[in-house]
Amino acid sequence: MNQKRLHLAIQKSGRLAERSLELVRKAGFRVNKSASDLAYSVENAPIDIWCVRDDDIPTFVANGVADLGIVGRNVLAERAAGGGDGVREIMPLGFGRCRLCIAGPERFEYRGPGSLNGLRIATTYPNLLTQFLSAAGVQAEIVTMSGAVEVAPRLKLADLICDLVSTGATLEANGLAAFETVMEGEATLVRSTRELDPDLERLLESLSSRFRGVCASQDAKYVMMNAPRSALPRIAEILPGAGAPTVLELAGRDDAVAVHAVCQESVFWETLEALKEAGASAILVLSIEKLM
Ligand code: ATP
Ligand code: ZN
Repeated sequence: MNQKRLHLAIQKSGRLAERSLELVRKAGFRVNKSASDLAYSVENAPIDIWCVRDDDIPTFVANGVADLGIVGRNVLAERAAGGGDGVREIMPLGFGRCRLCIAGPERFEYRGPGSLNGLRIATTYPNLLTQFLSAAGVQAEIVTMSGAVEVAPRLKLADLICDLVSTGATLEANGLAAFETVMEGEATLVRSTRELDPDLERLLESLSSRFRGVCASQDAKYVMMNAPRSALPRIAEILPGAGAPTVLELAGRDDAVAVHAVCQESVFWETLEALKEAGASAILVLSIEKLM
């Protein structure tokens, strides 16, 4: 019998490639490279992984060649802004963060979208840029490129660019600076909008739930401390992203308790100092391996 398999498309090489595969592995899937470097198969679940260009991932998913994909929200949004459908976001994955920005020569004086009127802007995101300009009521010319957008101003191909920025180092190296954000990007898990076979749908749900767990446990910490009962309301306020903490008796102490909580957001030294100030002592912060 031909076993049904779920197909996940990830970037073959580039900024999202390694983290995508790492996420699959952290979710407990054992991955084997196949003979071609185009695919991996998962040993302990009926899942195949296609490795492709990131720009092709939404198309693969929309056409049903893949059921799921990991792709930048910017790529997905560009397709949607151009009228493409058949793909929807399941959840953000917390890596590959960047911004789609409008940037120009460092001396350019930007005073809001009106400053863009009559200028030429080079981009690989013409649909998102068109949407942004028309929402702002701006008339500018869009020069669509397929890459290396940052050289356009030097080549006099455009006055400004609209491109992805994370640290700004590439812009700076080209004498450019970002002054407007069109959208925020981040790797996201996407799925096809078509209905899947019920077994595959269950597998997809289990995969997304494991991915959610891996993402949630990345910053999450298990925090334990002792504290006077009277400090409980203040402590609950300080703990970042914790629900109601667990409060336990301390043997032989009526005035103090042990407090345990799962914090879904980063716990910084400042947090610990604030807890100490609120009266907590013996504060322990532990990493969480899995969370569901
Ligand atoms: P491919 O060969 O797969 O087409 P690419 O060169 O188009 O690769 P990458 O540069 O690897 O793509 O970027 C993949 C994704 O990583 C982007 O779509 C974006 O979501 C995210 N990203 C994060 N930071 C940046 C950045 N500084 N520049 C570009 N993309 C970034
Ligand atoms: Zn690409």
